[in-house]
Amino acid sequence: MEKIAIVTGGSRGIGAATAYLAAERGYAVCVNYLYNSEAAQRVVDSIQQQGGNAIAVAADIACETEVLHLFKTVDEQLGRVSALVNNAGILEPQMRVENMSAARLNQVFMTNITGSFLCAREAVKRMSTKQGGSGGSIVNVSSVASRLGSPNEYIDYAASKGAIDTLTIGLAKEVAEEGIRVNAVRPGFIDTDIHASGGEPNRIERVKASIPLKRGGQAIEVAQAILWLLSDEASYTTGAFIDIAGGK
Ligand code: NAP
Repeated sequence: MEKIAIVTGGSRGIGAATAYLAAERGYAVCVNYLYNSEAAQRVVDSIQQQGGNAIAVAADIACETEVLHLFKTVDEQLGRVSALVNNAGILEPQMRVENMSAARLNQVFMTNITGSFLCAREAVKRMSTKQGGSGGSIVNVSSVASRLGSPNEYIDYAASKGAIDTLTIGLAKEVAEEGIRVNAVRPGFIDTDIHASGGEPNRIERVKASIPLKRGGQAIEVAQAILWLLSDEASYTTGAFIDIAGGK
């Protein structure tokens, strides 16, 4: 089966590391992004320079029509998707629940929850052996926040990742007989730009003493687990979680 991967939020951080590693492992890769076309193009150019096949597609995963456009573009330019990495996710500035506006909550839930559901939906339609597909693998990028709760930082974000855990458990069972495996990674404290979105670029420095391994993680350390879950080496693994958070 031809290996074709969509990595949402593939222009930076964990998504970019995953896109590079997927290309190295023989996937044609769609690098989805929201605004940062230069960063997405850099990932694509670098993959192509190494002899790989990649395209960049701008699409807001929180918007249904843009998700439809993303998957249609992949159908037309790469072929039928066999691997989805539901990676794109956001968090908002740190604050307590009592200060969170409805607009903020909706933005986080639309992107992290609805966006992941919509992408999973479109992937299942193409992968399901019941719908003429050849099967496939979905990896959802959750967070250890789903079990830690992120008090005083972003409980909304943590709750959105709780929903992703439940999506993983339910969808894995729903599509298991259709040749599709669904798993999740739960990173924590990975050195990317996301902490700046929370208003604290040096967050890992502050919390690292509380991490059993006493350091933050690198995006590649998450990408390696994602690629294992996508691969045939994980052929009997579905509905499973790999925590990548230094023991926290
Ligand atoms: P990041 O460095 O902030 O990168 C976010 C990526 O998502 C960018 O490519 C961004 O595109 C894209 N994106 C944001 N909103 C989008 C939307 N609505 N539609 C499409 N793409 C969108 O994030 P990261 O740290 O690599 O995080 C990746 C995933 O890992 C997220 O789901 C995050 O919750 C999860 N995670 C991260 C950590 C951590 O410590 N870093 C820990 C646990 C879980 P642009 O470049 O165009 O903005």
